[in-house]
Formats: sequence, structure tokens, C-alpha cells
Amino acid sequence: MATLLNEATQKLKGKVKGQVVLPSDPNYDEVRKIWNAMIDRRPAVMVRCAKADDIPHALELARLNGLEVSIRGAGHNIAGNALCEGGLMIDLSTMKNVRVDATNRRAFVEPGATLADFDEAVQKHGLATPMGINSTTGVSGLTLGGGFGWLTRKYGMTVDNLVSAEVIIADGKKIRASENETADLFWAIRGGGGNFGIVTQFEFKLHPVGPQILAGLIVFPSKQAKQVLRQYREFVESAPEELSVWVVLRQAPPLPFLAKEVHGKPVVVLAICHVGDIAEGEKLTKPLRRFGEVQGEHIGAQPYVQWQKAFDPLLTPGARNYWKSHNFTELRDEALDAMIEFANKLPSSQCEIFIGLISGAANRIPAQAMAYAHRDARFVLNVHGRWDEAAQDETGIAWARAFFKASAPYASAGAYVNFMTDDEGDRVVAAYGANYARLAQIKQRYDPNNVFHLNQNIKP
Ligand SMILES: Cc1cc2nc3c(=O)[nH]c(=O)nc-3n(C[C@H](O)[C@H](O)[C@H](O)COP(=O)(O)OP(=O)(O)OC[C@H]3O[C@@H](n4cnc5c(N)ncnc54)[C@H](O)[C@@H]3O)c2cc1C
Repeated sequence: MATLLNEATQKLKGKVKGQVVLPSDPNYDEVRKIWNAMIDRRPAVMVRCAKADDIPHALELARLNGLEVSIRGAGHNIAGNALCEGGLMIDLSTMKNVRVDATNRRAFVEPGATLADFDEAVQKHGLATPMGINSTTGVSGLTLGGGFGWLTRKYGMTVDNLVSAEVIIADGKKIRASENETADLFWAIRGGGGNFGIVTQFEFKLHPVGPQILAGLIVFPSKQAKQVLRQYREFVESAPEELSVWVVLRQAPPLPFLAKEVHGKPVVVLAICHVGDIAEGEKLTKPLRRFGEVQGEHIGAQPYVQWQKAFDPLLTPGARNYWKSHNFTELRDEALDAMIEFANKLPSSQCEIFIGLISGAANRIPAQAMAYAHRDARFVLNVHGRWDEAAQDETGIAWARAFFKASAPYASAGAYVNFMTDDEGDRVVAAYGANYARLAQIKQRYDPNNVFHLNQNIKP
């Protein structure tokens, strides 16, 4: 078997433009590294694709040798499904080109592009579309699971801005998917993850954004968390969709605008982004300072691309991560109390509880319009369990699970697949709700043998 595979990989090297990486290669460990250091698997073969045409050859090698297939975009996903054990990893991370058609406000994006690659290219034209809040995240995985960020209130989920995609399905055929071409596949990939094929190009709608926006942080002591959270909840009810305010409960990082005594102390942080007129943003955000006794703030006009990187220093690759997430239509007092209780017993200095506000344009799309189903979700709660040492796993994971359980009664239905860990396979049916049955039918049409099963799997 090993000899046969060896011969096959030698042949593959002659067929693909990209690099075939084997365990014996010096860069093997570097190539198999992904964002979440908790995931450590050893593929038998990795194909770093240089172009879409490499993919059918890689799929053929997997088929002929009975290898499991995993797909890597930028390798950011918490579940670590980009990496397989003993199988073949199709690595798209070096295909990063972003082409912008500024006249028609469209971007054509290769599957290895990160948010930083995307934002940099589109902002040269003063354009953007909703993406996430950490610039090393991949456009691919983020889009296929739904995608939300600072622009979501105004312009919807990332998938709401997808115009078309090119997809290579399990038999190696290339298909174009849009509202008018293979519309069933287009419906499924807008939220259904990597279940249906390998996307080799995304076409997005773009909107005028910035390039200067008003953004920043206001920090309060955690002892005032209750009053801050309750006023936050009321404030966002009437805030215009240009304004997004998210909440983070954590220990204060050593930020230069905070006094030394505050560093490492539990705090409540309001993270603010206004994508309209700067002066209007200043006026709108003024009342936020009255929520409590401000321990420090750093708000001002800045380039949108800079704000898109603001959280990068807290979310660097290489740490061990275990996350849990719920959607909420409303934040009841009991949910806020659970957040405060668990924020008061963070198991490490890197752990945090955050609330992302997504109410607005995303809520105006019908739940059956595409695979992404959570149109009633106005807040996404994510518990970032994060630490450096394996010895901390047990305590950290127990904390995240206990908080997840305590806040579950107040959450709305469904779950955001992009925040799910690899032990949450039993949440997949609930995550898609009423859309699951249709997804299973489409899976049967495009991937009947479940070749693409290393993901939050939809069974054919
Ligand atoms: C620090 C951090 C911050 C985040 N912030 C946000 C946020 O603000 N908003 C948000 O919406 N999400 C956010 N996420 C979640 C993010 O959307 C997912 O982790 C997403 O899967 C990352 O995409 P990737 O391409 O980097 O991941 P990968 O790990 O490379 O891919 C994830 C999975 O997607 C599938 N896949 C990837 N590329 C393709 C492709 N081209 N074709 C077919 N299938 C493919 C595969 O099944 C793969 O296993 C964040 C994640 C992290 C770790």
C-alpha cells in the first residue's frame, strides 16, 4: 500500500502545478500547521494547489488510494477539519488572488485568500463586503458557513453578498453556481460549508465603505458588568445599522491606553465600529461612555483595514482553542447573569466571552432563501476558551461547556457552524433546522459517497 501510494504521489507531482508535500519533506510540519494548535494530525499527502486544475488530480489520487480528503482554505477553523489523519489534504492556502472590478462593484476571490488579502484589495477602491473581525481568517471557510462582521448589520451576512462561485465537485467536474446556474448548489454552499464541493472562486458584491471609519474600544470594570450589559441591550435596539457595538468580557490586555493597574483585571469592553459619517458616529457613540465608570477608551477615525486587524494580536495562531457558541434573538437578564458569572471565573488570561451584534440586514432575508438559516439571530455569543498548555485543556474545556449549558435555556434555535468544534457533530441537524432535509438531498446529488465528510457533515 505504502509503495503504491508512493508511486501515485510521484505521478501526481508530474500532473499538478502546485507542490505535493509528504511526511518526508522538510516543510511537512510547517504545511500541516493550522490556527488551532489543539489539532495535531498527520496527513499522508498534502497537495498545495497552485491553480484550480490541480484539484481534480488530487481528488483522483484520493479516490484510487482510498484516502480521506480534507480541504484547507486559510486553516482557521476551530474544529480543525482542514487537517486529516493519514489522508489527503487539499491545501488551497497559496491561491490568494483577489481581482476587483470596481466599476461593477464585484470581487473575484481565490480560495486561499485571508480577510487581510481581501480587505486590502477592495479597500484600494473604497469598497468592502461583510467579512469577519480577525484578518488572518480565510474568506473560504467563513463564507461557506455564513460569515458576519462589522458590516453585517448594514449589508447582511457574507453569504448574502455572494453572487456566484466556481465549484469542483467530488467527481472532479467544475460547475458554476449562481442564482441562475445550478441554483440548488448555490443555495447549498451559502451556509452548508465544504459539504458539496471545493470552491475555487467566489464572486462577491461590494459596497462603498470608508476607507476611514470611526472605531475603537471603551473599557469598564467587570464589577459594573450588569449595568453596562443592560444599557447595551437597550442602546442597540435603536442604534442605526451603520453602527455595530459588540461586547467582550475578559481580563484587560496590556493595551497602551489602559493604566497599568487595569492590566490583567476583569473588564467589560465595548467594541465599536461606525461605517458612516465620522462626525455622526462620534455623536451616536457619546452615550456609551455613560454606561459606567470608563477605565480607558481608544476611539477615533481610522482606516477600515486597520480596524479589521485590531483583534489580531489577541487571536494569534499557535494557542490551544476550544469554543462554544449560541445564537440569541434577545438577551434576557438570565443570559446576561450567566455571562457575568462565567466571566468572573475565566480559566486563563486569554479566555473571553463575546457578543457579536448582527441584527439588521441579515434578519430581513427569509430563513429558506439559502442554507444559512438563522435569520432570527440578532446576537451571536461565542465563548473563546483559549490557553497555551495542554495541561490546561481539562479545566478550560469544562468551563466553556458549563457556560454553554448555563446559557442554553435563553438561546434561540440553531447554531453557527463556523464556531462549532469537532465534538459537536450532533448539533449539525439542529444547526440547519428546517433547511437540513433539502441540504441532505442536494448532498445526495453532488456528493453521494460523502467524499467531503471532514466538516460539519451533512449526510447524503
Ligand atoms: C480567531 C477567529 C476569529 C473568527 N472570527 C469570525 C468572525 O468574525 N465572523 C465569522 O463569521 N467567523 C469567524 N470565525 C470563524 C471562521 O469563519 C471559520 O473558522 C472559518 O471556517 C475559517 O475559514 P478558513 O478558510 O480559514 O478555515 P479552514 O480551516 O481552512 O476551513 C474550514 C472548513 O471549510 C471548508 N473549506 C474551506 N475552504 C473551502 C473551499 N474552498 N471549498 C470547500 N470547502 C472549503 C472545509 O470543510 C474546511 O475544513 C473566526 C474564527 C477564528 C479562529
